[in-house]
Amino acid sequence: MDTPFYLELAGQSMAGRLLPRAIAKDILSAGNIDLMPLLDAAYTVRKTFFGKQVTIHIINNAQNGYCSEDCRYCAQAKSSEADITEYPVKSDEEILLEAKNAYEKGAYRYCMVFAGRGPSQGRIERLARLIREIKSRYHIEVCVSAGLLDQEKARVLAQAGLDRLNHNLNTSARYYPQICTTHTFEDRLNTLKAARQAGLQICSGVIIGMGEEIEDVLDMAYTLRDQKAESIPVNFFIPIKGTRITRRPDLSPGYCLRVLCLFRFLNPEADIRIAAGREVYLRSMEVMALYPANSLFLDGYLNAKGDERIRTLRMIKDAGFSIESDHSLDELIANEAENSKPLFTGQGAEALIKDLKDLRPHLSHGK
Ligand code: SF4
Repeated sequence: MDTPFYLELAGQSMAGRLLPRAIAKDILSAGNIDLMPLLDAAYTVRKTFFGKQVTIHIINNAQNGYCSEDCRYCAQAKSSEADITEYPVKSDEEILLEAKNAYEKGAYRYCMVFAGRGPSQGRIERLARLIREIKSRYHIEVCVSAGLLDQEKARVLAQAGLDRLNHNLNTSARYYPQICTTHTFEDRLNTLKAARQAGLQICSGVIIGMGEEIEDVLDMAYTLRDQKAESIPVNFFIPIKGTRITRRPDLSPGYCLRVLCLFRFLNPEADIRIAAGREVYLRSMEVMALYPANSLFLDGYLNAKGDERIRTLRMIKDAGFSIESDHSLDELIANEAENSKPLFTGQGAEALIKDLKDLRPHLSHGK
């Protein structure tokens, strides 16, 4: 495609016009749409609404396991045999300490995640108290993911000062029965609608690579546009042993980047967040994801490890982005450097290859 195609793509997106489905599909799959100009077009949109800012989100897995639902991808599902260490809801002290930790690590937003179908009234009231406490102590946005809830419960959280409610769609309406049978796609949409009616912003993510078709990815992106989601975490599926979906998807870095571009064009003003799997599938092209996306998770995911904090912070800095935080990137990097083992800098004695096992690997060494 020629330059005018990419300019038109960025222009239409920024003007809020709906991208035709055929073009959206081409973004994911057509060989004549080149990745670099596509990323540049997505970056034009991203820069218009978010500049060069990156927002860091840190998740607290506030309760691990004990879930009645059977989401096939999830290590905490009742159907899962994954070797997780279950624990009931953490104490208030622990949750508050982790909020402090997230704030000090540069997080713009602290996300508390509770396994389960949905919260009881008692849990909602406890969450409301915690939200008030966190907001009074730290300059940090708060997000909660607590399963299915109705407008009344969402309103209690909104009144406590909750900024966003997370409830992921995960996949398309068509594919949903393949990944979960204990609740429906409609149930999930209703929770988003309840949050909206209660005046909350909504965060709703997707998981790419669970066996869905390209049409399903398009459905997800268009549905989240319809819902006017303020925040869209894009996960790339990491299979965990013992869950019901164990096949590792064949996701190339280029495809992952195209997915992020698609979500950016269709949701120009939404936080597009690079979520689980960024370290696994984007590989050497990970930094390019910051061009369509303006946000990422730091410190891992619910049941999957993430990269070292310092590597992620350096990636943001090296690409010329800054973070939205009370702490500067330089300060955070310096703190991390003090506490982590030194990275290879390519200088002095550490750069010297001396060992014969490296220099002459085919020689027998002392055998
Ligand atoms: S995704 Fe949530 S609701 Fe589904 S099994 Fe996991 S913890 Fe339960």
